[in-house]
Amino acid sequence: MAVIEHWIGGRAVAGRSVRTAPVYDPATGRQRNEVLLATPEDAAAAVDAARAAYDGWSQTSLMRRTRVLFAFRELVNRDAGRLAELITAEHGKVLSDALGEVHRGLEVVEFACGIPTLLKGDYSDQVSTGVDTWSFREPIGACVGITPFNFPAMVPMWMFPVAIACGNTFVLKPSERDPSASMLLARLWQEAGLPDGVFNVLHGDKVAVDALIDSPEVAAVSFVGSTPIARYVHERASATGKRVQALGGAKNHAVVLPDADVDFAADHLVAAAFGSAGERCMAVSAAVAVGSEADRVVDAVARRARAVRVGPGGDPDSEMGPVVTRQARERIAGLIETGAEQGGRVVVDGRGHVVPGHEQGFFLGPTLIDQVRRDMDVYREEIFGPVLCVVRADDVDEAIALINANPYGNGTAVFTSSGEAARRFQRGVHVGMIGVNVPVPVPMAFYSFGGWKESLFGDKHVHGPEGVSFYTRAKVVTTRWPRPHGAPHGNSGASFDFPSNA
Ligand code: NAD
Repeated sequence: MAVIEHWIGGRAVAGRSVRTAPVYDPATGRQRNEVLLATPEDAAAAVDAARAAYDGWSQTSLMRRTRVLFAFRELVNRDAGRLAELITAEHGKVLSDALGEVHRGLEVVEFACGIPTLLKGDYSDQVSTGVDTWSFREPIGACVGITPFNFPAMVPMWMFPVAIACGNTFVLKPSERDPSASMLLARLWQEAGLPDGVFNVLHGDKVAVDALIDSPEVAAVSFVGSTPIARYVHERASATGKRVQALGGAKNHAVVLPDADVDFAADHLVAAAFGSAGERCMAVSAAVAVGSEADRVVDAVARRARAVRVGPGGDPDSEMGPVVTRQARERIAGLIETGAEQGGRVVVDGRGHVVPGHEQGFFLGPTLIDQVRRDMDVYREEIFGPVLCVVRADDVDEAIALINANPYGNGTAVFTSSGEAARRFQRGVHVGMIGVNVPVPVPMAFYSFGGWKESLFGDKHVHGPEGVSFYTRAKVVTTRWPRPHGAPHGNSGASFDFPSNA
């Protein structure tokens, strides 16, 4: 069994860590590896490495930085299959899905390859007589990224390509449940020519996170994970004056209006609810069936849910893999039970699902619960598993009100053939990312990703223009090159007026 070490200053190191956590293969339920859990001293060493590398990297020319990014892009592309295999082995998602996540991460690298254009400032000539004003953005220092288990490559890649392209250095604290992809990414950065210390990986749990976010040497913290930890990280890191963007959990509603194509909506609902075993922050976990067609929608989804092929992520026939841990499996099964007790109608029940030959794997089948009400636990809690709840509503306005009463505001979608209803929906919902006949509306890398309400603490979304803004700060320079005293428009002596539009 391998011990997964930290990556600090360009090499794998054990540091002072003695505690470890098990890393499982969710498809077999067996432990694969163990990962070190950092001490505060290890965290300080990672931050020191990032601080030490900052002076050189922040002064490295834009063109040199860009060349490293292009090289990294080629290497991630070359090793996408290896990365996907590591993800499937530790997370459990099917290989095609793991490959998809690598490619979505790669798109952020490609966006960051355009950094010379993204960092162009503004210039205003002759804002006053003989005076010009221009602006530019500088990097901010050593940045920290703390990431969840569900996208062990893509979510870190939402952050570090942009941070590094902007001239910052980075310490990644990945999830301790699937830590291997980040180590391969670290090696690829080195192969791409990134100077040692610019990108570091620190494994660990709360001890590591607290040490990183308390460090006075850290300029900014990006966090993605559950809402309680996002809130905590935001409060604690902001209290020491850092920039923080903390993305939290979600309850994403997909509304099916009576004028929607039911088969189209059902195909997409099933993929969006059960893809990656529902362990996506943009997974659809609540379907809102509106009006007269609600029963047809439930039937169409149930038929498809029963047909989902559940199996090990490495088997090309599998459409849905296991959930990440035994505890997650038990928690999700417990919530389904509670849903039934509280009055939900369990139309498809995935609790008894067994994958032959993988009896110890953390498998659950797709589950569909109809007649769900707002006060039920399955609706109030983020289940983060392959469970789709159906809530009924009379019209689009009731659906909008339901979504707006929910504390989360990550993503939402509407299925309809009415442009008027879609427009009312997209303007009315208090949600960051909205799909119209698109169930998982994850923005492309050149837009920014983020939710509203308890799905985001802080005011900057990740990647895209807001990512560049988060990892830089602006300077505005006002310049004058005076002519000699006595020349036209030359120095006319001291003036004690407040400068205005002279
Ligand atoms: P998590 O909150 O348990 O863990 C996220 C990170 O925080 C991990 O690196 C973990 O080690 C660390 N952490 C855990 N407990 C901590 C504590 N007490 N103090 C300090 N750090 C702690 O989340 P998870 O289970 O890994 O991931 C699933 C969650 O992430 C879901 O809620 C999901 O919605 C959310 N998520 C959100 C987005 C988004 O874009 N909004 C994207 C992906 C995942």
